[in-house]
Amino acid sequence: MPDSALDLCIALCRNARDLDGAAQLQALSELENLLRIAKASVRTSQEQAAPSAAAVEPAIEMDLTGYVTGWNAGAEQLFGYTREEAIGQHVLFLYADDDNEIAELFLEHGTSLMEVRRRKKSGEIFWASLALSLRHDEAGNPDGMVARMSEIKERLSPEDKLRLHARIIEDSDQGILITDADERIVSVNTAFTRITGYSAAEAIGKTPDLLRSGRHNADFRAEVRSAMLGSGPWQGEIFGKRKNGEIFPQSVSISVVRDDQGRITHAFSIFSDISVFKEAEARIQQMANYDSLTGLPNRTLLSQLVGQALTAARRSSKHGALMVIDLDRFTAIHDTLGYDIAEELLREISRRFRAALRDEDVLARIDGGKFAVALLDIQKREHAGIVARKLRAALDAPFANESHELHIAAHIGISVFPEDGLDSASLLRFADAAMTKARQNSDVSYVFYSSEMNERAKEHLRIETELRRALANGQMLLHYQPKVSLRSGRIVGAEALIRWRHPERGMVPPGLFIPVAEETGLILEIGSWVLEEACRQIREWTQRAFKAPPIAVNLSSRQFDRGLPQRVQEVLERYDVTPDRIKLEITETLLVRGPEQVIPIMNELAAMGLALALDDFGTGYSSLAYLKKFPISTLKIDRSFVIGLPREENDCAIAQAIVTMGQQLRQEIVAEGVETLEQMTFLRNLGCDQLQGYLFSPPISNDAFEQMVREGKRLPLG
Ligand code: C2E
Ligand code: MG
Ligand code: MG
Repeated sequence: MPDSALDLCIALCRNARDLDGAAQLQALSELENLLRIAKASVRTSQEQAAPSAAAVEPAIEMDLTGYVTGWNAGAEQLFGYTREEAIGQHVLFLYADDDNEIAELFLEHGTSLMEVRRRKKSGEIFWASLALSLRHDEAGNPDGMVARMSEIKERLSPEDKLRLHARIIEDSDQGILITDADERIVSVNTAFTRITGYSAAEAIGKTPDLLRSGRHNADFRAEVRSAMLGSGPWQGEIFGKRKNGEIFPQSVSISVVRDDQGRITHAFSIFSDISVFKEAEARIQQMANYDSLTGLPNRTLLSQLVGQALTAARRSSKHGALMVIDLDRFTAIHDTLGYDIAEELLREISRRFRAALRDEDVLARIDGGKFAVALLDIQKREHAGIVARKLRAALDAPFANESHELHIAAHIGISVFPEDGLDSASLLRFADAAMTKARQNSDVSYVFYSSEMNERAKEHLRIETELRRALANGQMLLHYQPKVSLRSGRIVGAEALIRWRHPERGMVPPGLFIPVAEETGLILEIGSWVLEEACRQIREWTQRAFKAPPIAVNLSSRQFDRGLPQRVQEVLERYDVTPDRIKLEITETLLVRGPEQVIPIMNELAAMGLALALDDFGTGYSSLAYLKKFPISTLKIDRSFVIGLPREENDCAIAQAIVTMGQQLRQEIVAEGVETLEQMTFLRNLGCDQLQGYLFSPPISNDAFEQMVREGKRLPLG
């Protein structure tokens, strides 16, 4: 089209030269028309070629009467009408309001800027800034208008603002109350009515005293009131009263509104009902301080209460007692009869205990089947004993439920303050130690804490400290106890047993320190030292051309972790000892951890060529079913079964069973602690392979052992 129009123009111009005046004028006006079409066409194609619609400023062209003649991509995007829909319509179709400000249509000249409300195709009304300019033809006469506009996103009219604010106030979740300068309520919102129960009609005209709870003193009220009178914003928690008389906690903020002269015209308070939070807070308190099952105070609250009583006792030289009550067999009941019965039992016991005590005595549940009682004011130590007997008697009657009649016993430990201690943690610990003592002695049901109980704990601590020093100072050594074959009578091995040469106390037997080391974890260091020392000794013997029989080393179950095979491997390599020179003795306590944990480690050790012996067999958790799965080459019958041989029928039967089973599993059987010839003969006849015991030799030093083997000492087999 533009091309053909321009061609026409060129042809017209060429012909016009030859035309006369009137015809020339005619041609000129035709030419003008054609150029107009061409120009419009060029503009349209420019607009269509715009890089992106978003970048185009909305522009609307109109003729002088307001009919749309041009509609660009920006206008289409802003209003949502296509070009086809818009062109030819009167611009009023875009107006938001009926009161048309058509002033823009009567523009005389120049450009006018204004803010107007318009409506999109979607119905959405928006504010736009509008620049309206006139368009002129070549002769300078106005021939149309162009409106360029952009949407004003943040603009709100004063009415809209008011409407919006009113909505926000009305819809707020928080109660809002507005008072005038005379402190009369002038406005409230729906939340106010919901929270307080007063309708707007009931509240308006009253003072905020309407909600007064009577819970606050005059000073506090004055503070709140002065905030309402303009002393500044105020925020806090106060109690209010609902229409139905119910008191409720509220979180409030109060501010004032001033006019241009700074005079207060209104005050408003925004408040929320925080009773739910207060309830939650109370519940959390309850959970933190009380046992959920029995509703009794828990250990935390007990400690707190005893702590307070101790402070008071120091001032008034009062005495008190703390008791720990441990129910017998509670775990067994729990495990065999189940949760429900165990829980009901605990509730019933707490009821009985509570009934046996005075109101001022504190009864707490501090652990599974453990209760504690604090007597915060007693005259004499013995009074605590009386209470303990009462508590014990409270359990006398059996506990019956649908299917069972249970008899529950308990052991009670008592500590007294201020004599035994001055802080609740120590008192509780001491009462607990006394309870353990009571449990060990089935004849008594309660025991007072005594300082000896603490002595044992202190002794443990002392051993631990000394043990660390002993390891560092070379006070540890190994003795070797030979194992002899019951077929040949020859020495076929030895067990390495640790000794502690204490600078003051002489030789300390392992029974005194190994259990402490197990408890504290020091056994890991001790165990590494033992393995290392045994390997060092083997190498030393080898270097002196003494081929020692395999040496068995005891392993604590605490050493038995995934890293063990690697650690053993390193030590063997360091001392150039082959695995057949070492045996590892493990005990059944290891199996408590579950076979799936220990079997892989055992297999790894066995694969390295190390023989495993099961020590103290028959005393622990021996499960014959597991025994088959373990890569164990030796069973050591515990000394406790050997002692009774051959007179104790039971011991004979057990020894017999162990030997038979070992033979079936092709395991070597070693009898420990053989002291007499009779024991030896009996074991030999059973088919036992080896013996270890004082009959042949006690544990002896490395030198003595070397000499014994070199001399070829033999067990006389008769
Ligand atoms: P165990 O491994 O069962 O060691 C055998 C214990 O029986 C040794 O006691 C030994 O002296 C004792 N015994 C041997 N023959 C007789 C006898 O004919 N009559 C009597 N009455 N006793 C006999 P010891 O050396 O006091 O060791 C006690 C326990 O200490 C050991 O029992 C073992 O469990 C532990 N233990 C010893 N050394 C170590 C060690 O290096 N590491 C670990 N983890 N534990 C060790
Ligand atoms: Mg052993
Ligand atoms: Mg043993």
